[in-house]
Amino acid sequence: MNQNSLILIKPDGLVKSLTGNILTRMSETKLEIVAAKIVRVSPELAKAHYQHLADKPFFDELITYLQGQLHDRRKVMAMVYWGEDAINKVRALAGATNPEEAEPTSIRGAYGRITSKGIYENVIHASSDAIEAEREIKLWFEPDEIILDAFPTKTETLNDVKKRVWAKA
Ligand code: UDP
Ligand code: MG
Repeated sequence: MNQNSLILIKPDGLVKSLTGNILTRMSETKLEIVAAKIVRVSPELAKAHYQHLADKPFFDELITYLQGQLHDRRKVMAMVYWGEDAINKVRALAGATNPEEAEPTSIRGAYGRITSKGIYENVIHASSDAIEAEREIKLWFEPDEIILDAFPTKTETLNDVKKRVWAKA
């Protein structure tokens, strides 16, 4: 079954200059990239993304980590990969959550580390199941930022919406 999966190259992956390596490894899956952007992560977005971990003792540090405050690199690269069995394929390539338990040849096994505070800096996020993938993709992307109809949309006419536009054409 064709699926969408959200992949984030986390700030540690960016600071270690791993973007190219990770994209090359990801191409082993033969999945398609259907959306990609660089995002400055707000505290609200980070907390919503990791809402399932809100009661964990490491939650505050995790939110700081995703925002790039631990790496002086306040951004992540967000992507949607699409194709047959996308979620499991990407999870297998990403490896286990704990980089010390991850297969050495997986992305997390090869590049991740555990900080002295005990946070798993595991370089990438990958959606864990179809329900989480849908929730996460809707959190990180607008429908028009994805080049296929990932999920049903509706059209609304918005009045009085303020947004920045280019000052000159
Ligand atoms: N994490 C951590 N310590 C833990 C569990 C999770 O530092 O004991 C961090 C780690 O960066 C992980 C993220 O929190 O990637 C989200 O945790 P989750 O259990 O959702 O694992 P994932 O889906 O990323 O494998
Ligand atoms: Mg998860």
